[in-house]
Amino acid sequence: GGRPEQKATGRHADRFGGQLVLVTGAGSGIGRATAFAFAEAGARVVAVDRDAEAAVRTAELSRLIGAPEAWAETADVSDEQAMEKLAEKVHRTYGVLDVLVNNAGVGLSGSFFATTTDDWHKVLDVNLWGVIHGCRLFGARMSERAQGGHIVNIASAAAYQPSRALPAYSTSKAAVLMLSECLRAELAGQGIGVSAICPGFVNTNITSTTRFAGVDEAEERRRQKTTSRLYGMRNYPPEKVAEAVLDAVARDRAVVPVTPEARGAHLMSRFLPGVLRR
Ligand code: ADP
Repeated sequence: GGRPEQKATGRHADRFGGQLVLVTGAGSGIGRATAFAFAEAGARVVAVDRDAEAAVRTAELSRLIGAPEAWAETADVSDEQAMEKLAEKVHRTYGVLDVLVNNAGVGLSGSFFATTTDDWHKVLDVNLWGVIHGCRLFGARMSERAQGGHIVNIASAAAYQPSRALPAYSTSKAAVLMLSECLRAELAGQGIGVSAICPGFVNTNITSTTRFAGVDEAEERRRQKTTSRLYGMRNYPPEKVAEAVLDAVARDRAVVPVTPEARGAHLMSRFLPGVLRR
């Protein structure tokens, strides 16, 4: 074979050559950057998003970057039937995944008492159920095939960093983190790795599309800006999170805090929880 036109130069150049990688929420932000990073590393990429056009664009660009093949699929990860259909089509048409990246997510900011039942369902349906559907539907086939593989779930530093601003979002991500660690234990004997990636504040649409429940949005954005300036975490690029995803697969890492403040908070939550929980 060989791909003479390919100009992969990244740290993982051709490391994932020919492997089949599916990324959810691949239409934007961390998901798109992750699809590109795998493309650059020579993988065959399936870009899934509920936004059809965005998924198509990611697939087109992935081919330009170096993916030998790239496809776009439209699906809402929170919709179990849609995910069953997607998994059926992917397995029939492209094959069994080598790497699954459960990335699709939505943001919600606002105090616990301002968060409605509907808000809770929206966040948990996508952020938690989306990951459950992905792990179950694609992980089962990986396990049957018995050639190993890797599942990467994009959690968040919010998973272990309590805050009064993000109760629903943080709860959904804490669940994703625990699910990842349980599944990692269950699949360890089968050569299937499971990693949870925990970015801090990353500069993507999710920070601009996050909905605000019961708080003054302008004031909340000002507060977040001050916090991010304090921690020096402005403009953390999604490409760096993508790099962490590829590293987590290559080195089979369990939990990967990405940004500096996410690393700090991770250490604190594991070894000095009292400092955080005052
Ligand atoms: P981030 O990269 O920080 O997670 P973005 O908002 O930039 O934030 O990207 C999230 C992507 O996930 C978007 O392309 C969005 O369309 C997609 N997405 C959100 N919810 C779903 C869902 N239920 N199913 C599939 N894709 C989704």
